[in-house]
Amino acid sequence: MKVDAVIIGAGPAGLTAAIEMIENGLSVAVIDEYYHPGGRLLGQHYEDPKAPPDERIWNGRKLADQLAEKARSLGVYIFTGVTAWSVSGKWAVALTGGEVNTVDSKVLLLATGSVEKALPIPGWTLPGAISIGAAQTFTNLHHVAVGKRMMIAGVDALSLSVMIEMKNAGINVVGMALPPLSPVTGGGYSPADTVASLTDVAGLAPNSFVRTFGKIALARFPRLIARAMRFNFLKMNGVPIHLRKSIVKIEGEQQVEAVMLQSVSVDGKPVGEMERVEVDAICLAAGLYPLVDLAETVGCPLIDIPELGGTVPLHGPDMSTQVNGLFVAGNITGIEGAKVAIAQGQLAAISILNSLGKSGSMTVNEAIKKVENAREKAPIHFLPEIGEGREKMNAIWEKEGIL
Ligand SMILES: Cc1cc2nc3c(=O)[nH]c(=O)nc-3n(C[C@H](O)[C@H](O)[C@H](O)COP(=O)(O)OP(=O)(O)OC[C@H]3O[C@@H](n4cnc5c(N)ncnc54)[C@H](O)[C@@H]3O)c2cc1C
Repeated sequence: MKVDAVIIGAGPAGLTAAIEMIENGLSVAVIDEYYHPGGRLLGQHYEDPKAPPDERIWNGRKLADQLAEKARSLGVYIFTGVTAWSVSGKWAVALTGGEVNTVDSKVLLLATGSVEKALPIPGWTLPGAISIGAAQTFTNLHHVAVGKRMMIAGVDALSLSVMIEMKNAGINVVGMALPPLSPVTGGGYSPADTVASLTDVAGLAPNSFVRTFGKIALARFPRLIARAMRFNFLKMNGVPIHLRKSIVKIEGEQQVEAVMLQSVSVDGKPVGEMERVEVDAICLAAGLYPLVDLAETVGCPLIDIPELGGTVPLHGPDMSTQVNGLFVAGNITGIEGAKVAIAQGQLAAISILNSLGKSGSMTVNEAIKKVENAREKAPIHFLPEIGEGREKMNAIWEKEGIL
């Protein structure tokens, strides 16, 4: 099969890009290994307090279906249940799992999204231990309760938001606590680090953190606030948030039966006795990182920018890369919410159209402004310093990226 543009990833970035491209005269194929298009949109269901009243409920599944239906009705080929396992030439995308084995194209857009970091604590392979993203999908997409009495290890924007979603679905979440510090999980999970990372949880209503301490206090005095947390007074939606305790072990014979909680110092060092809490499920949340394997395969330089969530392809503000004909959009460029991914998808599509001598529905500069607006109004900021991360990437691009 031959098309003008191949997009790998049918998440919000990929589907939005596909629509913009086909509406402006390109033939487009979208590849996704999941059985249903929509990417991470499929599990999202929450209230966005920053949105106008009639758009306040964010129903990711509904939006995914609308985008996919629109793309299909315009003639986009959407292959689901198919993995793009290799890319060669310019461009031949090798597929596995479907009837078509290769798609050839003039341009390639990588919109492969992000994945969860593993949180290997003792007992994490027991049935009943589940990643926070999987719990989100079970709760919001399949309407299955992952447990009757559960805890969450890891306190960040995603786990807090999924906790609220689970509570709204009637699941008994008995508490949230930190992961343990270990060489495997790395740094960033101490009480002080966690408090500092929670400066912007604006999408999480009711916003107990910001209400209690104020954004500036969270950013400037994380150690002081973490110290006060030993009194354990913080609750969100009725769920105790233990910012001075780590879940150090999961216990059970055949499945999860309990977790062991260890009190910790402001820097995450164990202090005092352990406490056993009976649960039948535990969600593990250690954050997300961009999925960049295919960018590496095609020789795109990668840059490590912690403010963006880790290693990302070197790219310009218009979503182009140093590799001719290769563009990127969405979480592969840094961890942000779906509204930013949508705006980036449209921006990448317009850059692609321009590179092939065509115009899009707006100029590249207008599309860049749209991305910035979406970032400003985002209901969830996964990474508090995402703006600085974007600036760093633009500076590196200015210096080294433009060939
Ligand atoms: C577990 C998890 C939970 C999240 N929850 C939220 C949330 O509640 N709210 C929010 O705003 N954001 C959330 N996000 C962030 C989310 O990534 C963005 O909202 C948005 O979905 C990013 O869009 P995207 O198009 O870049 O990628 P995604 O939506 O992640 O889509 C990428 C797609 O690429 C496909 N893919 C990847 N590699 C291949 C390959 N080699 N071959 C074929 N297909 C491939 C994947 O199957 C996936 O469908 C979450 C992310 C994760 C990982």
